[in-house]
Amino acid sequence: MSQEPEVIYRAAIAWLETRAASLSAGLLAEALALVPTIPPTLVGMPYCHACESVLCGACGICHGLSLVPPDFCPADQENMGTDCAAWWQAYHAVYTLMYQEARHE
Ligand SMILES: [Zn+2]
Ligand SMILES: [Zn+2]
Repeated sequence: MSQEPEVIYRAAIAWLETRAASLSAGLLAEALALVPTIPPTLVGMPYCHACESVLCGACGICHGLSLVPPDFCPADQENMGTDCAAWWQAYHAVYTLMYQEARHE
């Protein structure tokens, strides 16, 4: 990954703003604020030892099933709260854009 994180974060924020109509205003604002806190690499991120899914940065437990459906995991509590939803929106924006950038190179 050669992109500077700041470039990805700016693109992720712009991408989230294009989806504003499908998100509540509060959720969008929270997700936008969380974008710069998403690690730009998966290395070292906490992950589920049962299914290897990345774990939520808000609660540290949930798998964000509504956005990134993994196979069923017995360790996932499906206990997403509002903070979790915002974190997963930010995570999804950052990684969607990173993969797009990687394909363009
Ligand atoms: Zn899991
Ligand atoms: Zn969570």
